[in-house]
Order: sequence, then C-alpha cells, then structure tokens
Amino acid sequence: MEIPKYVGAVLQALESAGCEAWCVGGCVRDALSGRLPEDWDVATAARPEETLAVFGSRALPTGLRHGTVTVKTEGGPVEVTTYRIDGAYRDHRRPESVAFTSSLEEDLRRRDFTVNAMAWSLRGELRDPWGGQEDLRRGILRCVGDPDRRFQEDALRILRGLRFAAVLGLEIEPGTAEALRRNREGLRDIAPERIQAELFKLLPGRKAAEVLRGWPEVFGVFWPELLEMVGFDQRNRHHCYDVWEHTLHALAAAPEEPVLRCTMLLHDVGKPASFTLDEQGVGHFYGHPAAGRELADGMLRRLKCAAEFRETVVRLVEWHDKDIPRTDKAVGRALRVLGEEDLRRLILVKRADNLGQAPAYRDRQRELDKAEEILDRLLAKEACFSLKQLAVKGGDLLALGLSGPAVGRALEALLDKVTDGELPNERETLLAYLRGDLGADGKEDGK
Ligand code: ATP
Ligand code: MG
Repeated sequence: MEIPKYVGAVLQALESAGCEAWCVGGCVRDALSGRLPEDWDVATAARPEETLAVFGSRALPTGLRHGTVTVKTEGGPVEVTTYRIDGAYRDHRRPESVAFTSSLEEDLRRRDFTVNAMAWSLRGELRDPWGGQEDLRRGILRCVGDPDRRFQEDALRILRGLRFAAVLGLEIEPGTAEALRRNREGLRDIAPERIQAELFKLLPGRKAAEVLRGWPEVFGVFWPELLEMVGFDQRNRHHCYDVWEHTLHALAAAPEEPVLRCTMLLHDVGKPASFTLDEQGVGHFYGHPAAGRELADGMLRRLKCAAEFRETVVRLVEWHDKDIPRTDKAVGRALRVLGEEDLRRLILVKRADNLGQAPAYRDRQRELDKAEEILDRLLAKEACFSLKQLAVKGGDLLALGLSGPAVGRALEALLDKVTDGELPNERETLLAYLRGDLGADGKEDGK
C-alpha cells in the first residue's frame, strides 16, 4: 500500500519548509496489515504555529493545546500533530500537560501499543523502535513500555486494547493481558462517551465474541448486568449453552455491525432476573424480553448512547422473542409497527439468536426465510404500511367533519384495514368507507 497523494502532499509541504514529517499510528498499522486506513495522521517536528504558517488558509487550529492542526486537502482533512511528550497523568485519564519535542522517537514512546507506535515516511522508510511490525506479523498486541503504568496513565487503553484484539484479531501478550485485567477498575474514571465509542467499535470485530468471553469482568466494570449471565444454566432443552455462552454464539452469528451486535449482546440480559423452574425441573424465562428491554435501556443510557441507537436496540431486544407468523397479515402488521429497516434487523436478530441455540432447534432459519420472502413480496407490490403511504390524508378527514384526535384515530383505523388487506389503498374506496362508517351527523360511529 502507498501513502495517498493528498497525504503525501502534506508531508512534502512540511519537509519543504524544513520540518520532518511522518505518517503515524493507526494508518501505518492498517497499511502494513493490508487494511484500508480510515484516516491518515501526520506527526511533525514543526510547532503548531509553523504548521499553521505552512498551510495558511487550509489549516484549522483544531487542537492547538495538544499540538494538532487540521489541514484541508482535496482528499479530506489530515490531522497534523507536533511531536509531543505527555506529562504526568491525572485520574487515569488525561495528561496534565503536554510538551512539544523535536524527537520522533519520543513521540512514538507515548503511544499505547507497539503496533500503533510506528511511523512511515514519504520515502517508504519505517521507524519502529518498539517492534510493532514484528508484533503485527505475529499477531500480538503489546503495550509500549510497562503495561501497568500505561493502563494506569489512561484506563481507556484497556478498552482500546480489547478493541484491537476484537477487530484486528490480535492476541494480547501475557504481560499486557495481566496488567489489563489488574487495572480494569480504572475504567470507572473514564467518560461514558469514550467507553461507548470504543465499545461500539469493538462489538463489530470478527473476534468480538472471543474477547467478551475472555474478559467479562472488564465489561462488567461499566455493565455489571452482563456478569449475571455468565454461567447461568438455562435448564432447557432448547439451549445447549448457559445464557452468556448462548449470547456470545448469537453475537458471533450476527452481521458485523454495531446495532445488531449490541442487540445480540443485550437480547437475553433480562433472563437471569426472569428465571423460573417448573415441576419437571425445566427452566423458563417468562417476560425476559420486557425485563431485558428495561435493563438494556438503563445500560445504554449509562453510556450516554444516542437516543436513536438506544431506541432501536431496546426495541429489537423487546421483539427478539416474538413469533412472526408466516402470513401476509402478520408480516404486514410487524412491518407497520417496526418499519422496513427494523423488521429486516429483527429477522437478522432472530436468525442469530436461533444459531446460538441447540443444533436440533436451528431449523427456524427456514421459517425466517419464509418471513423474509413475504416481506420482499409485500414491499415489491408497494403495499401500504404507513400513514405516509395511505391514499387518504388528514385533510380528507377534516373535510368529512372530523377534528382533533379523532382524525389520527380514524387514519390509524383505516391503515389497519389496509394493512390487513380488508380494504384496498384507493382514495375513493377509503372515502366511501369512511362516509359509511360515520354517522349522519358526521361524528364518529361509537369509536
Ligand atoms: P482507528 O483510527 O482505527 O480507530 P487508531 O489507532 O488510529 O485507530 P486513534 O484514536 O485514531 O486510533 O489514534 C491515533 C493514534 O494515536 C493511535 O494509533 C496511537 O498511536 C495514539 N493514541 C490514541 N489514543 C491513545 C491513547 N489513549 N494512549 C496512547 N496513545 C494513543
Ligand atoms: Mg485513527
């Protein structure tokens, strides 16, 4: 892989001004492992004011205190940060001060993991004082320097480490692993938004289930509800795993995407509190989706998740165990309540949930195929499932003499009939139906 032209131009401009400049961090790691880097960061010996002078009106002083200037280029923004040394750390979070330096080595030393502490120049030269390339080749994640100290300085590195293990499939080196476990309580000092950002990058990782299995107590620092699931025997023939193992199998079977992975992690979180044992000694979890919904809602609020994300996840948790009969009417109703996007998600959730059950019960996949076929067919014939699509609008009902909340109620009732296939979605037919349904005085007919 090569440094993209627009990044090369930034390096070149700095070098022409006599300032050393390198690509650093995640982009070097990703490029060396054959992944497409999300963004290219540049480190330079230039002081922030020099960088500002080099790029003029294309430079934005986005983080001057930390030495960061954002340069606008035709390929997108590039962050240019002055080489720096982080001062003493406070509360396992942020350095009290940062000092600029002219040494690339010093700058690489402050970085969290060896694979993130490499630099790459325009001439293709690699600076790798901590053996990051070798660790990457062997698939190992290792702290730069003493791991206890590094996790104590900034506890977010604990979660970043697990994120790199989950996403890049790296094995955590034993010394780093022990320190990671030992220092997990430091996560209590980390802002929920930062935890959330790392967690939702971690969950889509291809090794996310393995990481959750290996480190439940780390996730338990901010989500202790998860620990209730670990080892919880389901006492039910549908399940060959305990609640946590089932959760991890279901999570691994879901698409590598944050909403679905988070839903699978939380879908059965209501089980431990809902457990009952019948006379035959069989376990049941009546009401666990509703209990799970409440718990999941609290957990996602605690991490300050965006409302839309949280609402989608808790809705899927609530719906995950509902049967959707394979009929036009049932699928149509679900479509009406959930909308296409969430109903498609629900089908994926149900598929993943089923793949985490005992092998004899995995034939549910065919039922889900059928539900999906019906959904595709309903959508292909542009059937009506929302008020937006309904051939009659609020204004029509006002013209018929309805007013206030009665308008909304009448529209919903009409949509029910159309969704269920009892009435066609045709304006004249619907209006005629309404006229017949309304009393002579124009009031609603006993509804
Ligand atoms: P990605 O961009 O793929 O999420 P990344 O490794 O680039 O991963 P960033 O948060 O973009 O992560 O950080 C860029 C670089 O800054 C990292 O590669 C690492 O060298 C350094 N870094 C980031 N956060 C920390 C931290 N908490 N402690 C030490 N170094 C860090
Ligand atoms: Mg990055």
